Amino acid sequence: MKIYVGEKILTKINQYLDLNSYTKLAVLTDKIVASFWLDKLKEGLKKDFLSITLKPGEKEKNLKTLTFIWQKLLKNNFDRKSLLINFGGGVITDIGGFAASTYMRGIDYINLPTTILAAVDASVGGKTGINFLGVKNLIGTFYESKMILIDTFVFSSLPKREFIAGFSEIIKHAIIYDKKYFDFLFNINHLFDQKNLKKIIDWSIKIKMKIVQKDKKETGLRKILNFGHTFAHAIESLSLKTKKPLLHGEAVAVGIIGESFIAQKTGLLKKEDFFLIEEIIKKYQLFQKINFSKTDLKNLMLKDKKNINQKILFSLPIKIGEMVFNVKVPEKIINLAIDYISL
Ligand code: NAD
Repeated sequence: MKIYVGEKILTKINQYLDLNSYTKLAVLTDKIVASFWLDKLKEGLKKDFLSITLKPGEKEKNLKTLTFIWQKLLKNNFDRKSLLINFGGGVITDIGGFAASTYMRGIDYINLPTTILAAVDASVGGKTGINFLGVKNLIGTFYESKMILIDTFVFSSLPKREFIAGFSEIIKHAIIYDKKYFDFLFNINHLFDQKNLKKIIDWSIKIKMKIVQKDKKETGLRKILNFGHTFAHAIESLSLKTKKPLLHGEAVAVGIIGESFIAQKTGLLKKEDFFLIEEIIKKYQLFQKINFSKTDLKNLMLKDKKNINQKILFSLPIKIGEMVFNVKVPEKIINLAIDYISL
């Protein structure tokens, strides 16, 4: 699989793709991304394509929308040699990847992520899927894209909140795998500068790829990528029911602190490292406290896909750059961690 990261890739995209080897081409996107960037993509593709445009948002990651995509492909005579381009955030790359993996038992697709989170995380590693019966990503496949193309210029239209939220996955990559990367992120003078963006995205993708390649189906090592997410998924689910839901990346930042607190309390992680982790989350403006019921949070954590036999299993840092996974934690410490991240 090839990955390219650079500026203004959209308008010269046909230089990266061999479109002549495909019978048909579709671009899956959402209305917001389309309004900013679809014309630029059109200019770059220099070829007719079927445009499938969804409403923006997590709610679209459902079976009805998936059926809509399959129908569009079928009605427009897409065959096995067609190509789907997923052009959007993680919602688009997840549902588009799933549609491609199942249509005619699998057609080729490429990801053109337009959020930071999708660039460093959702578009990398071949996990596709939809939400089902209220459970996030319950139905899905492992099916890798043929290529990931990242035009860093498209991030310029992201709302500041979305832009910043993407950095929690970047910080996560540093904590779980690479102290040098952590130090680099910690010491950057001008945070969120376009100049550093290419380097950061490259670095993060390399880390995720290294981990995924060693464990494609998440039977072991890949679980370290879930650091922060046992808490985050529970927090996200509860926050979605409120008037001001947190973004995924914002919930992950809280989860990183909660789970680092657990690592420190269980004696796995030194206090100095815990403070550094808290410090970097603050530096990237991702620090906040939550206000949810402890019981609700724990009940949701019990539904985490990493669990086995109804036991909550954590991926925890033992130092910055090194992790352990499948860790059972006494309930008392989980309670303390929830207290720590709560208002
Ligand atoms: P998203 O796709 O909903 O995008 C967030 C918002 O930003 C949307 O309103 C979208 O229209 C808008 N947007 C996207 N690009 C834009 C741009 N360039 N300019 C202006 N607005 C833009 O959300 P996301 O945060 O990108 O992704 C979250 C999804 O990713 C979740 O469904 C999550 O489950 C999934 N995910 C998947 C994996 C995986 O490995 N498959 C990993 C992490 C997250």
